[in-house]
This record gives sequence, structure tokens and C-alpha cells, in this order.
Amino acid sequence: FELREPDNEPVYSYAPGTPEREKLKEEIERLKAQQIEIPAIIGGKEVKTGNTTDLVIPDNHDHKLGVTHLCGEKEVEMAIDAAMEAREEWAKMDWQDRVAIFKKAAELLSGTWRYKINASTMLAQSKTAYQSEIDAVAELADFFRFNAYYLTQIYKDQPDSPKGMWNRSEYRPLEGFVFAVTPFNFTSIAGNLPSAPAICGNVALWKPATSSVYSNYFIMKLLQEAGLPDGVINFLPGNGADIGDPVLESEHLSGLHFTGSTGTFQHLWKSISDNIEMYNTYPRIVGETGGKDFIFAHNEADVDALVVAALRAAYEYQGQKCSAASRMYIPESLWDEFRDKFTAEVEKIKMGEAEDFSNFMTAVIDQGAFDSITEYIDFAHDADDADVLLGGDYDDSEGFFIEPTFVHAKDPHFKTMEEEIFGPVLTAYVYEDDKFDETLELCDNTSPYALTGAIFSQNRYALNKMADRLRQAAGNFYINDKPTAAVVNQQPFGGARKSGTNDKAGSAANLMRWISIRSIKETQ
Ligand code: GLU
Repeated sequence: FELREPDNEPVYSYAPGTPEREKLKEEIERLKAQQIEIPAIIGGKEVKTGNTTDLVIPDNHDHKLGVTHLCGEKEVEMAIDAAMEAREEWAKMDWQDRVAIFKKAAELLSGTWRYKINASTMLAQSKTAYQSEIDAVAELADFFRFNAYYLTQIYKDQPDSPKGMWNRSEYRPLEGFVFAVTPFNFTSIAGNLPSAPAICGNVALWKPATSSVYSNYFIMKLLQEAGLPDGVINFLPGNGADIGDPVLESEHLSGLHFTGSTGTFQHLWKSISDNIEMYNTYPRIVGETGGKDFIFAHNEADVDALVVAALRAAYEYQGQKCSAASRMYIPESLWDEFRDKFTAEVEKIKMGEAEDFSNFMTAVIDQGAFDSITEYIDFAHDADDADVLLGGDYDDSEGFFIEPTFVHAKDPHFKTMEEEIFGPVLTAYVYEDDKFDETLELCDNTSPYALTGAIFSQNRYALNKMADRLRQAAGNFYINDKPTAAVVNQQPFGGARKSGTNDKAGSAANLMRWISIRSIKETQ
């Protein structure tokens, strides 16, 4: 018995005049008109701690959506007990039943829940309708459906049984619980990190990013409606260390599924290593962290294609995708044409509130992000070896707005060419055409990260050379296309080097990290 390979969830355009656009607008108004109290969900029950923080709209930060109850050690202990109790039945449940729940979750997301999940991501994470649709709706529905499909592919793989014996691979979940620590920038990743272990029969503690609890809470409610039994996933909003420290001191920790900053990932890894003797099993560690993603143009690149790719990869979602292009290498012979065409297009960008559907860019997520991104911009403004060619202005009086910014660095090791900024700042270095080989070398060696990268040329020999020289420089590599917007089952996503463990999200390889095989031999 196996599942047929699913199709990717269709993406709504929300074009003017479509009924979908009207429904999404109504949902936005409905959500804005109410004040929500986001609780923890432990063992299926809502828990309000009374220790709350405000939930604000990043592009209109005077508007409160409600409050979030923050958890601490006590709630973590309750959640571990609830998870370990739920594990008794969940781990033994027929896989068909687990698959049924996540397939239903995908149906709910693509149906009745679509507008609420999209609108809540738009409002609290400040995404345009389209960015929200490809993330919170389409990619998450794809994760649910394809995880179910990949699981059946894994289970089907059984060893040989020569005459006289029957050998089996039993695909067991891990023994304790998995800790899912999720980022603000993708609702799909937030939903997938606890769900991928869960579909394999694991139980999970889910610590969402504080700025994305709004959509993440609705995902949790959707999973409950899809039939997820109590305690299988426990939703614990809170500050990092308040949740992380007690979780990592539990003997039952059996895995970490993480997406977020490099610093946090390394801190969690070190804590796990310090506590290693405490655990009943060696925790599986899977993480996706930072990036300093590049676009590399050869002198036979199609400049129009390059302009579109650079603009979308650098400025969609305000550059807050791990995959966003933030450094660019461009040959001298193409520079003037590129700069002029790019400038003309960037100047057309409209920025404002996410709920105004004509905007292409909105605000960055919070004050911390605003301060750190604008520090880089100020640095570039003040530097002698760089020019800020476009944008560079910012204003946080109403929302955390930063203009799409384009820097020309004369030094390939200029700060904004090397450090992750996680905002709408693209830096270009112009190389002499005959220094193609050295510049490829430079591109490979400039950053410790290796998440995404894109190369552009119409010359196949040049493409081959670039792909070969940059083999280790990106886990997701794009030829004549932007380095963002990976689609489940088409470009499995993940990076290597300091960008993560490269256990591709939404893949059989990822699910295998949450499975511990028992090999059984029976003599007959
Ligand atoms: N998968 C996303 C993309 O391809 C990026 C995910 C992330 O930011 O972590 O654009």
C-alpha cells in the first residue's frame, strides 16, 4: 500500500477583482477588529500563564492584535509530561492514521483555513498576500502532503529475506520527544518543524518565534481540528532561554529540529553536548541557520533576467528570507547596463502596509531587526570604499520601514559583502572580466555560509565552470534564476557549511532523522 505522489498546492494570485482577494480582505478586517489572547497548548489544553507580551503589526506598530502568554520552566515540565504520555499511543498508532491527520491538515489549509492562515501571516509577520500565500498556505500544505508521501516510500523499503528467514525493517520513532524551535520568517517552516517528526510517530515540543505566534497558533488549532491527538505537539510560546534551558535538561530529549540564527543553533548544540550524559539517547540535531547568498554573473549573462532575479531575491519579504540574495558579483562589461536597468526597476517598488495589496515591500519584523539592518546601512553610507547607490533611508515612526538599498562595494571584503544582514540590502562587487576565475574563488571563500546561490550566463562552458568551482558554496544552487522560493518536491531546501546540517526540509532524508530503525531477523 502506498500513496500516490501528490501535486503541489496551487498558489492564488489575489489579483484585483477576484473573489479570493475579497475574502482575504474580509479576513484581515475580521482579525484586526478583535483582540486575541494566545495561550500555550499543552496536552491539548489551552494554558494562560498571565505573563504576557503584546502582539503588534510590524508595519503599523501602534496597532495591537492582542497578547501572548509566555511560558517558563513549569509549563515546559507540563509539556514534557504531556508529550511522554501522548507518546504511549501515538508511537504505536498505525502509520495510515498518522498520515490521515496530516493529509486532512493539508485539506483544511487549502480550504476553510486558507484565508485565516494567510491573513494572520500577512498581519503579524508583515508579508504581502503573495509572499504569505507561497509560504503559509502553499508550502505548508506541500510539507504536510509530501511528508505523508515520503513516509510511505520509506516504509516500503524492506531488506531481503533469503529462504529460511524473514527480515524486516521496523521504522520506529525516536524514544523521547523532539524539540522544534521555529523562525519568524516562514509560517511553513514553523508548521513543518514539529510536524515532520510527528508524522513519523514522534511527539514534540514546539517553541515558536515570539513575532510569529499569531499564525503559528492558528496552525496549532488547525492541526487539532485535523485530529492531532492531545500532547503529540505542545505549543510553547516564550523567550528562548526560558523554554530552551529546561527542555535541554530533560533526559527524554531525542532531537532538535531548528531553523533560526547561527548563534542560537550553536548555543543549543553546545548545551546538548554539555548535557550529553543526561540523555537516554543521542539527540538527533537538524538545523538550518544563516546565509550570505550570492548572485554571480558571467559576462555572457542575460542582463534583463539578472535584474529581475536580483530585485526579487534581494527585496521580496524585505530580504528576510535565509535564501535572500545579499551579495552580487558582476563583470565590468555588464555593470553600466545592469545598474541603469536595476535602478529603473527598484525605483518603481512600492512600500507600505502589507494589507494594501499594491505594495511590493512592507516593514521588517521588529525593532531589533530594524536597528541591526540600519546599522549596516549607516556603515555603508560612511565608508570610503562603498557607495550607497539606491535607497538607504529608513523610518520606524509608524512601522519598521527600510528602503530597498543597493550598495556598490569597491572592496570585495567590504562588511556588507561578508556579513549576514537579513534585510533589504544588496551589495555588488564589480570585477574585471578577465578576473573571472579569481572572482569565483573569492565568491567561494568570502563567507562561511553555504545556503543558496545563483549563477547567470548564456554560455554552457562558463556555467559548467561556475557550477564546478562553486560546488560547495550553496545547498540550493540556481542557474539563470533567483536563489529564493524553493518549492517542496522540486528543489528540496537546505544549506551546508555554517548554514546548517543540510537535511533538506520536506524530504525523505529529513524524515529519516526522526526514525530509528529496528532490524528484525526471524528464522523460519
Ligand atoms: N525556502 C525558502 C526559500 O527558498 C527560504 C527558507 C528560509 O528563509 O529559511 O526562499
